Amino acid sequence: MSLSQLEFASLGSGSKGNATLVCVGTTCIMVDCGFSMRETVLRLEQCGKQPEQISAILLTHEHTDHIKGAGALSRRYGIPLWSTRGTARAQALGDIGRHYFINAEEEFKIGQIFIQAYPVPHDAREPCQFTFSNGRQRLGLLTDVGKGTPHIVEQLTKCDALLLECNHDSEMLQNGDYPPSLKQRVASDLGHLSNQQAAEILSQLDTTNLKYIAAMHLSDKNNQSYLARQALSEVLNCEQSWVNIADQQTGLAWQQI
Ligand SMILES: [Zn+2]
Ligand SMILES: [Zn+2]
Repeated sequence: MSLSQLEFASLGSGSKGNATLVCVGTTCIMVDCGFSMRETVLRLEQCGKQPEQISAILLTHEHTDHIKGAGALSRRYGIPLWSTRGTARAQALGDIGRHYFINAEEEFKIGQIFIQAYPVPHDAREPCQFTFSNGRQRLGLLTDVGKGTPHIVEQLTKCDALLLECNHDSEMLQNGDYPPSLKQRVASDLGHLSNQQAAEILSQLDTTNLKYIAAMHLSDKNNQSYLARQALSEVLNCEQSWVNIADQQTGLAWQQI
C-alpha cells in the first residue's frame, strides 16, 4: 500500500501569531492557532483550506501567539483540541468542547498522522513540540525553546524536513531597545533560540534525509532573514537560498515530502 505524502504549510510565524498545517491524505492538523478566528479563516483560505477540513488543533503551549484563536475556532467549527494537561489549564482557552490530553513524551495518532510529542525548555506550564510522520517521512517542528537538549537532538535527527526556530541574533537582541528584563527572558534557557543556538542544534543532527528546512519564529526587531539563512546554511554547507524563511505575514507555502 502506498502512503500518502506528508504536506505542510505555515499560516504565519513570529511573535504576533503562529499556525502550521500538517496534512496526510484527508487528515489535516493545525498546530497552534495564534491568530484571531477571523484572521485564521482568512489565512486558511489563502492556503486553499476551509476550517471544516481541519481534523484537529494541536497546541504546543499556552502563549497568546500560539492559542489566540484556538478556543473560538474549536467551538465554532467543532474541531477537537489536543494538548498537554498543563497547556489545557490556560484560562485563555475558554470553554472547549472536545479536548484530548496528551503526554509530552507520548506517540499518538490523529487520523493518518503519527505524532511524537517531546518536552522542551520554555517559560510555559507544560510546553512540548512535535515530529509528524506519514509512516515513512518525518517532519520536525521546534520553536519556542530556550536551548537545545540531547533529547531534542534525538527527536529531530534524521528528519526529512525541519521547521526550526531562529528567533534572534544575539547581538541585535543585546543592542536593541527591548527592556533589560525582556532581553534576559528571550535569551534565557527558557526563552527562544538565537540563530547560533539553532545552528548548534542543527549541527548535531543527522541531516542525510533532509530535503527541506525553514527558519521559524523570527523576531521582527531582533533578527534579519539573511542572518538566519547564513547561520543554518553554514551548517548544512548549502546555498543560503536553500534555507526558507517563515515570515509573520505569509508564513510558508505548501511543501510536500
Ligand atoms: Zn511563540
Ligand atoms: Zn512561547
